[in-house]
Amino acid sequence: MLVEPNGVIGILGGGQLGRMLALAAARLGLRAHIYTPEENSPAADVAHAVTIGSYADAAKLAAFGEVVNVVTYEFENVPAETVDILAAHHAPTAPGARALGVAQDRLIEKEFVNSIGAGTAPFHPVDDLASLEAGLRKIGRPAILKTRRLGYDGKGQTSIAAAETDLPHTWEEANKKAWAEIGARPSILEGFIDFSMEISIIAARGRDGEIRCYDAPQNIHQGGILRRSIVPALAAADAVADAKAIAARMLTDLDYVGVIGVEFFILKSGGVLVNEFAPRVHNSGHWTADACAVSQFEQHIRAVAGWPLGDPARHSDCVMENLIGDEVERWRDLSREPQTCVHLYGKLETLPGRKMGHVTRLMKKSS
Ligand code: AMP
Repeated sequence: MLVEPNGVIGILGGGQLGRMLALAAARLGLRAHIYTPEENSPAADVAHAVTIGSYADAAKLAAFGEVVNVVTYEFENVPAETVDILAAHHAPTAPGARALGVAQDRLIEKEFVNSIGAGTAPFHPVDDLASLEAGLRKIGRPAILKTRRLGYDGKGQTSIAAAETDLPHTWEEANKKAWAEIGARPSILEGFIDFSMEISIIAARGRDGEIRCYDAPQNIHQGGILRRSIVPALAAADAVADAKAIAARMLTDLDYVGVIGVEFFILKSGGVLVNEFAPRVHNSGHWTADACAVSQFEQHIRAVAGWPLGDPARHSDCVMENLIGDEVERWRDLSREPQTCVHLYGKLETLPGRKMGHVTRLMKKSS
């Protein structure tokens, strides 16, 4: 399968990731057709064509499937049925339905990671208060309760404090509160990892099975949202090599085509655990657009279009910082700074916690 210049890449989702994918496609002479339920989406501003429709609209999806050469997605919560409808209309989808299915459910995701021999936080499935209590007996406190599906940017999760800080609640009250906080939905209880650092691996697998990885960023989160990625991560070389090997095993086992973002905890002992993965381009890889010859966005387009993968080598050190909510107002000052690449997503409404843009500060390469 090869999509040649002037071919059309269908992208499900109209957010900033779709916008940056569409821009990368255009640079290669490919056209992006965005499919999104949203009017005025960030991706629509820069796309060749846009279909506004729901992910359950079989007729619109079929028409979209007819006019694109390949379909990819920019967010992982695309319903499985959407991919099935597209497949029925001969629109090949990459990454495939399996990667999507695994990434959409935290329990299946953790079981998959363990099945390829990689570690995760200890976990226990939670379907009611009794299984939450059983999980806490097994895993202990502190812990984190996360919904199995549809969580992002720290949403759909609540922390369960260590015993001594839990007062004035009784155990029972505290458990009930946590269960209510995540909406009494099928969940997973995770042991709290006292990590030394969080890193991620942005890697790609081409249609021929070739795998390429970018250098690992160190990621700083606040309130579950990525604040900054620092590149390169000042992590032990062994830990980064282990993380890259795990990401590569995941890609091969899933028979994956495209870019994946895998988040890792590095333990104080030096070991690595997988936190989660996203079957798409990833916020912690945005810096690649400014510090590498071929960005994660172009790499993803190359992979799904059947092109050779590009060179992921980094020409600069950098720090990527998200502009969240009102911080986007800093664009005036930021746009005066030297060696600073400002990216704004064209969102019409600024909301607290909403990712409005990001900025990458480039520095001389150290290693
Ligand atoms: P997630 O949405 O699962 O990626 O969680 C967002 C952030 O919360 C992570 O990047 C970590 O900083 C933190 N976090 C999530 N799970 C755990 C855990 N089991 N132990 C410690 N911190 C966690």
